[in-house]
Amino acid sequence: MKNSKPIPYGRQHITQEDIEAVTSVLQSDILTQGPYIEEFEKKFANYIGSTYAVAVANGTAALHLCALALGVNSSTKVITTSITFAASANCIHYCGGSIDFVDIDEQLYLLDFDKVEKQIQSKPAGFYNGIVAVDFAGQAIDLEKLRKLANTHKLWIIEDACHAPGGYFTDSRNIKQNCGNGTYAELAIFSFHPVKHIATGEGGMITTNDKSLYDKLILLRTHGITRKPELLIENHGGWYYEMQELGYNYRITDFQAALGISQLKRATEGLQKRKSIARKYNAAFAQIESIVTPSFEDGHAYHLYVIQVPDRLDLYNYLRSKNIFAQVHYIPVHLMPYYKQLGWKKGDLPLAEAYYEHCLSLPMYPTLSEEELNYVIECIIQYYSK
Ligand SMILES: *Cc1c(COP(=O)(O)O)cnc(C)c1O
Repeated sequence: MKNSKPIPYGRQHITQEDIEAVTSVLQSDILTQGPYIEEFEKKFANYIGSTYAVAVANGTAALHLCALALGVNSSTKVITTSITFAASANCIHYCGGSIDFVDIDEQLYLLDFDKVEKQIQSKPAGFYNGIVAVDFAGQAIDLEKLRKLANTHKLWIIEDACHAPGGYFTDSRNIKQNCGNGTYAELAIFSFHPVKHIATGEGGMITTNDKSLYDKLILLRTHGITRKPELLIENHGGWYYEMQELGYNYRITDFQAALGISQLKRATEGLQKRKSIARKYNAAFAQIESIVTPSFEDGHAYHLYVIQVPDRLDLYNYLRSKNIFAQVHYIPVHLMPYYKQLGWKKGDLPLAEAYYEHCLSLPMYPTLSEEELNYVIECIIQYYSK
């Protein structure tokens, strides 16, 4: 077995059509805030099934804007998972609020609802304000259940759906609920970082069904400035604008939006490819006792294909020696030095920590060829037959 080209855990897929979409915008008059942003927003909302979408500079900016739009401040307390990218938690701290991490469930590696409820009940009524729920790896979190919990305790929900465009769960009325469609969460966010399903270099999107949150996000994305005559408090003439809130420059460019539109055309195809890779891995590893595979579900968007193994470091190094660059998702956020200095420590979240000790993300992206996939599988089988 030989493989000369390194195989990463994830990578973007850029076609000639994508390149032409970008270059045509570069040759036009408008590089930022042009017509492609609105088109991308409309098409993305349509793909996800939300009423509104707001394109922004990246997924982290999307999270920050969500926290701002929901009024997060220094008295805000929010629950999230530790098995996520740090930004899911950081966005609350950007606004002066604080995060309480709650442990995961052993099957799906998502926030454990029973533990979330226990955590809420351990505090006085009204202590918590919201939950950042993460569709980790592409597995849709059951937002219908979480909504019930949130309603009981008057909490808002931000769905971090960075891993799950095209993912869904089926609710109690037997309706497919797409990740980020806004049925059960106030706001959802996506990232268009190159390893995610849709790549625009940097880029992000917020989806919602709430008009007043949408209006706030539009304002906050561009310095809190509006030019819309119907929103102005005064009006001095054609040049006039008003800065009505303390906003940011979190805009995406028009050529990135054009790339996003072009990528979106292949989103369904890419998702099918991810699912077929997951199926193939699952079948190949079924007989290897040392490997815990993720259960195959049609609603899983398979941003990551995560296995659990007893000897993770050794397998990781072995794969590297074979030019296969598996990754670890994630080092628990509560064990990052920043959060440790706030009082979090090893032992606080036993299941998240145990998960971290054994998890490994195998190559998963639409352009992973049949040959490369077989090579990865053969290497792993060979490793376990030593
Ligand atoms: C990628 C990612 C983000 C951040 O997105 P950026 O576009 O890189 O800022 C946030 N949350 C999760 C779960 C992610 O995977």
